[in-house]
Amino acid sequence: MNQPAQPHSFTTLNLHPDLLSNLESLGYLHQTEIQAQSLPPILAGQDVIAQGKTGSGKTAAFGLGLLNQLDSKNFNIQAMVLCPTRELADQVAEEIRRLARRLPNIKVMTLCGGMNMGAQLSSLQQGAHVIVGTPGRIEEHLRKQTLKLDDLKVLVLDEADRMLDMGFQPAIDAIMETVPSPRQTLLFSATFPSQIEQISERIMQTPLRIQVESQH
Ligand code: ADP
Ligand code: MG
Repeated sequence: MNQPAQPHSFTTLNLHPDLLSNLESLGYLHQTEIQAQSLPPILAGQDVIAQGKTGSGKTAAFGLGLLNQLDSKNFNIQAMVLCPTRELADQVAEEIRRLARRLPNIKVMTLCGGMNMGAQLSSLQQGAHVIVGTPGRIEEHLRKQTLKLDDLKVLVLDEADRMLDMGFQPAIDAIMETVPSPRQTLLFSATFPSQIEQISERIMQTPLRIQVESQH
């Protein structure tokens, strides 16, 4: 097997050239450990459970995975990320927008509790490629049929352990009843209580499990 020129270079991945050139301009020269382990199966379309500490680069792992498979001409939602809080959803949306900077016209929208409903409805009507939000508000939009997920290709549960700690299991269960399959499901968490094991068995297809101890 050929060795990559540098350890964990992004160029060895099957990424869209605009994503690769953007990573270079962002100064992302090497994949972090969790990215190096999870990106190949994520880009191959597999379901992945990834466990890694805060700061290990989990957002770019799923962010690149979902951006790489978006059809920019389709303004229906193709990827959705569930996060425990509005602050985290804002951070994830910002990072995905940064990663998407050189892709044509990708709209990333946040849907969180405490945000104005009317503004969300008019934004939704204009269409978006990616939704990042908290389970409660997303479930509310699905119940009211103001959010359509017919074209969803990737679902991400970020900080899954914190979402469960915050009591989001019923909202997540309701969301899972609405999301289409087949789809790719990615689950990121710092810890793996048995509740997460059980959820993953219900919502994922033979997931690959990755555990990274170190920061980078
Ligand atoms: P986590 O979700 O695992 O806590 P983040 O996704 O928030 O971690 O990433 C932590 C920081 O590392 C962010 O500031 C992000 O921009 C940066 N980062 C992620 N991947 C890389 C990389 N490959 N090279 C350089 N910086 C990176
Ligand atoms: Mg994170």
